[in-house]
Amino acid sequence: MVNTNKENPAIDTYIKEFKKDLEDLDIDSIYVKYLGKKGIVNTLFAGIRDLSSDIKKDVSKDLNTFKSLVESEIKNKKDTSDNTSSEKFDLTYPVNPTKIGNLHPVTIVTRELYQFFHYYGFSVQDGPEIESDYYNFEMMGVPKDHPARELQDTLYILEPEHLLRTQTSSIEARILKNTKPPIRFVNGGKAFRNETGSKSNGAIFHQFQGVCVDKNITMANLKWIFTKSLKFILGEDTKIRFRAKYYPEVEPGLSPDIECKFCVGAGCEICKFRGWIEIAGGGMIHPNTLKEAGIDTNEYSGFAFGWGLDRIAMQRFKIRDIRLLINGNIVYV
Ligand SMILES: [Zn+2]
Repeated sequence: MVNTNKENPAIDTYIKEFKKDLEDLDIDSIYVKYLGKKGIVNTLFAGIRDLSSDIKKDVSKDLNTFKSLVESEIKNKKDTSDNTSSEKFDLTYPVNPTKIGNLHPVTIVTRELYQFFHYYGFSVQDGPEIESDYYNFEMMGVPKDHPARELQDTLYILEPEHLLRTQTSSIEARILKNTKPPIRFVNGGKAFRNETGSKSNGAIFHQFQGVCVDKNITMANLKWIFTKSLKFILGEDTKIRFRAKYYPEVEPGLSPDIECKFCVGAGCEICKFRGWIEIAGGGMIHPNTLKEAGIDTNEYSGFAFGWGLDRIAMQRFKIRDIRLLINGNIVYV
């Protein structure tokens, strides 16, 4: 508060403090401290109204002098710093573009596949990542004593009933069990296995699951949709071959391979020198699975397939190591 003494030593104290701040503080801090809305100058002026009328005039005069001093010194300091600054502020300089990032490669291919399958009448479904033994194994034709279960090193949450789903087929099991045909859906999601990480295998990976159950569904329908969708996502020039393959949940089973885009069939580290990449698996849904779901196998048949989304993304975007898809490095090289 303003000292009422005629000599007004309080002002001297503020001047002294201000001169010290001029040396120590940056220009913005000084401005706020002295000339800001709640700064010292305004506060001192506000205190004048409480003074007796005989000293008001003198104190006002002192405060005006102080204010002028503060304003001129701040201006001087600003001019000096502007002149010595090597970087001039140029209003016409274009603004640096903001880095807004991009969608994850797996998200991009997943969304494109949703788009493709939506066109052919497939809906998008979802299911839990922590799954029960029943939906993950039992219902998909892998009973407890089945040797196929040994193929999968499962990550259990609570053995033996609760686990991290080893395949997105668990969603298929849930939908079949709880929906009446005709059924057409797809789903993209994470699956988990107790794998040692390598360039082409990871403990966390992404699968894209598709199911169609209707009247008169055959392998020809599955082969057609595999061919059409693979070319849609990887380009019309993609070479595809089909191999018969065993999967416990289908009968018969098949696996489409695509010619490796890294080496164009010549053989490289990514395709393990085969020239081809196993990219998906599928087949006709096993009658036992349909029966377990309460679906009449005399009336309905269906196909199911699962894609390896990471491998699709790797081939599509030329990503050489599957581990790059889930680490923190945002630059894919
Ligand atoms: Zn290759």
